[in-house]
Amino acid sequence: MAIADHFLEQIPAAPVALKSAGRCPLIKLSGVGKTHRGGALALADVDLTVGEGEFVSILGPSGCGKSTSLRLVAGLGRISSGTIDWPQSRYDASGEPIRDLGFVFQEMPWATVFANIYLPLKLAGVSRAAAKPRILLLDEPFAALDEITRFRLNNDLLRVWQAQRWTVLFVTHSVFEAVYLSNRIIVMSARPGRIVADLPITAPYPRGEAFRTSTAYNEFCRITPGALGRTMTNLSEEEH
Ligand code: ADP
Ligand code: MG
Repeated sequence: MAIADHFLEQIPAAPVALKSAGRCPLIKLSGVGKTHRGGALALADVDLTVGEGEFVSILGPSGCGKSTSLRLVAGLGRISSGTIDWPQSRYDASGEPIRDLGFVFQEMPWATVFANIYLPLKLAGVSRAAAKPRILLLDEPFAALDEITRFRLNNDLLRVWQAQRWTVLFVTHSVFEAVYLSNRIIVMSARPGRIVADLPITAPYPRGEAFRTSTAYNEFCRITPGALGRTMTNLSEEEH
């Protein structure tokens, strides 16, 4: 933590809200399907465009394909159908898009999150001139933390996101965390995962404790579980 604090002190004050957020497509998933070896259909027909500089959270029931989606975006594993395009990237000789990509896997212990988020970001200043699209994929990074620490890391993450202009794809089970952080929340249905809602969280950045206790925050937190609840209802109906 001390290392992260030290690093965060070096970051200039957060700029005003990201005016360009969501305007310029960075990743485009079209009709993406994934059948795992052994036949498990994890994703079906996922269409999602993420704009440069967006903070997009993904919510959905366990097993709906959130981790699978992140892994496919990271180029880990082959998609079974559809396409994933990087409209702003050049592609190398092997057909891989050229971009800076950071991935915090679900199973990482929280301490390594620091090594995997803060260190690359610290180094990112050096490669800024390269102007490659930068994307950070975070798979339930703070799930195991106590609430106070999670709040604190949420604020840290927002600060580095705004200062560094990364694009973030963030998987969480917490509606409250998703609302606090995101400019957009994607809700996925139970397996096979499909996108069933795309909710804009229109509150301005920077966000802080004033936002967490605001009427607007509460209203977003009230609306979001409705979309999530419908996916859970479908799940329990299928199970009976
Ligand atoms: P989530 O992250 O939303 O909980 P996952 O993406 O981990 O869901 O998994 C989606 C579905 O795909 C689940 O049914 C899971 O069991 C299955 N699955 C995930 N990874 C593999 C794999 N490597 N091989 C076979 N099935 C898998
Ligand atoms: Mg997962």
